[in-house]
Amino acid sequence: MDIPRIFNVTESAHRIHNPLTPEKLATLGAALRLEPGTRVLDLGSGSGEMLCTWARNYGIRGTGIDMSQLFTEQAKRRAGELGVTDLVEFIHKDAAGCVADEKVSVAACVGATWIGGGVAGTIELLTKSLCTGGIILIGEPYWLKLPEAEDIAKECHAGSISDFLLLPELLVSFGNLGYDVVEMVLADQDSWDRYEAAKWLTMRRWLETNPDDDFAKEVRSELTSAPERYTRYTREYLGWGVFALMSR
Ligand code: SAH
Repeated sequence: MDIPRIFNVTESAHRIHNPLTPEKLATLGAALRLEPGTRVLDLGSGSGEMLCTWARNYGIRGTGIDMSQLFTEQAKRRAGELGVTDLVEFIHKDAAGCVADEKVSVAACVGATWIGGGVAGTIELLTKSLCTGGIILIGEPYWLKLPEAEDIAKECHAGSISDFLLLPELLVSFGNLGYDVVEMVLADQDSWDRYEAAKWLTMRRWLETNPDDDFAKEVRSELTSAPERYTRYTREYLGWGVFALMSR
C-alpha cells in the first residue's frame, strides 16, 4: 500500500507537502493558541512537520496517519531530530474512515481531502474524532480567479473548474455545512514557489542518480514541462489555505 510513486520522487526532499512555508505553519500554530497537552489528529500527515514543530513549540500531543511509507519514515525521523518522539506518533496506513480511539481537540486534514471523498466528507470524518468545542483544520485549494476554460483547470491539476471555489464561496460553503471559520492562513505566490519549484531540483538530482530507472522517462517529462505549466497556470489561478472551523 502506497501513494503513486511520482509523489515519493518529486516530494522526497520536502518537509512540508503543501504551499505553506515553515513560517506560515508556525503562524497557524500560534493562531490556534494551542495549549500544552492538546491532542491533535492529522490525516494525511506527510512528513510530519506540522505535528513535530507544534509538539516542539507548544507541547501538543499528535497522531499522524499517512499512506506514504517514505513520508511516514521521514516523519518519525523528524520527531527524533526535534526531540518529540514521546509526544507524536506516525502510522503508515490509509486514513479513509480513520477515527481516533481517544477524542482530540484539533482534527486536521491539510491538503488531502480526497481521504473523506471531498471537503464535506472529510469534515464529517474528522468530526467523529473531535471533542465538543474542538477545531477542525482543512487545507484546501481555491481559485484566485476563475479559469476562463476547462483546460486551464486541468493544467492546474483540477479535474474541472467545479472542483474548487473562489475564496469567499469556499468560506460560505463551510458556513453552509454548519461551521464558523475561526482562523485561516493562506499560501501566497512565494510559498507556492517553495512547494512547486523545490520539486524541480529534486527531480533533476533524482534523474542524475537514477538514469536507467523505469520511471526516468516520466520524471524527465515532468521536469521538462512543470516550470512553464506551473508559472502559466497554478501560480496565477490557484490559491491554497488552511481553514480552522468550529461547529456552530
Ligand atoms: N499534510 C501534509 C501532507 C499533504 S500532501 C503536509 O501538509 O505536509 C498529501 C498527503 O496525503 C501525502 O503525504 C500522501 O501520502 C497522503 N495520502 C494520500 N492519500 C492518503 C490516504 N488515503 N490515507 C492517508 N494518507 C494519504
